[in-house]
Amino acid sequence: MPDFKFETGDIVTLKKPHPCGSRDFEILRTGADFRLKCCGCAHQFMAQRSMVEKNARSLRKMTEVSTKTTSSQG
Ligand SMILES: [Zn+2]
Repeated sequence: MPDFKFETGDIVTLKKPHPCGSRDFEILRTGADFRLKCCGCAHQFMAQRSMVEKNARSLRKMTEVSTKTTSSQG
């Protein structure tokens, strides 16, 4: 399992989608519990850090500038 470094402002993709269909969530707060905001419907909720770490598929850093195009499937 990749070791993600979660930071405020990052976009984390979880295995389990939100009821609205989006799997991307913005990290509003880190700690023992994370505060996440759904990128699909803007719903905010708390999630245990262990849950986020367990379900995270990828993490996009807010500071990361995407100059190259990578096509990833699945
Ligand atoms: Zn949602």
